[in-house]
Amino acid sequence: MKAIHLYLLSGLTSLTLLSFNQSNANNKDQLTKNSVDMKFEKVALPYATDALEPVISKQTVELHYGKHHQAYIDNLNKLIVGTKFENADLETIVKESDGAIFNNAGQALNHNLYFTSFKKNGGGEPKGKLAEAINEQFGSFDKFKEEFNAAGVSLFGSGWVWLAKDKNGKLSILKESNAGNPLTSGLTPVLGFDVWEHSYYLDYQNRRADHLKGLWNIIDWDVVSARY
Ligand code: MN
Repeated sequence: MKAIHLYLLSGLTSLTLLSFNQSNANNKDQLTKNSVDMKFEKVALPYATDALEPVISKQTVELHYGKHHQAYIDNLNKLIVGTKFENADLETIVKESDGAIFNNAGQALNHNLYFTSFKKNGGGEPKGKLAEAINEQFGSFDKFKEEFNAAGVSLFGSGWVWLAKDKNGKLSILKESNAGNPLTSGLTPVLGFDVWEHSYYLDYQNRRADHLKGLWNIIDWDVVSARY
């Protein structure tokens, strides 16, 4: 009954789920695991694992998306059990949590945004209102890229460089350590480059600048422009 109650609380009333739970009603560990697994999942990868080569290798996508991102999601799902964040959405958790929950929620959200920002044969330039805002704020797309790359290269240690917008649509570039996301400053993330070494070390070793330069060739500007 406990698991049925949990599913109902989550708004999941599928008969399939209910009968699945009933059939496992005597296995408490199994029920706990399944109810936890229902909480957050990685965003689906919108391309094949080798689609971003040579900018990001298949091996890096498999490890970064398949292992690192999965670990953040799994940790988050475990950590929120029994806390006030148990039924919260990911953005709320990122805005309101701290410590280990924040670290894993931030990375779960950051990587969902990151992995959906790319496509095979991407690149080119931003579109529509985002293009206009970039030109207004930074002078040109090339100047924006230069500033964004410089922020990524100069970020000390692990973290993220973000393009973010405020409530009036004004853009800014933010350097965030570790799991940082613009949401915690009241801003909306538009584009984030991961500068943790796990995102590039297999392909570029210490050449972070080369990696950042390459990322512009795989951006899916339809997706990214729609976030603005
Ligand atoms: Mn990462």
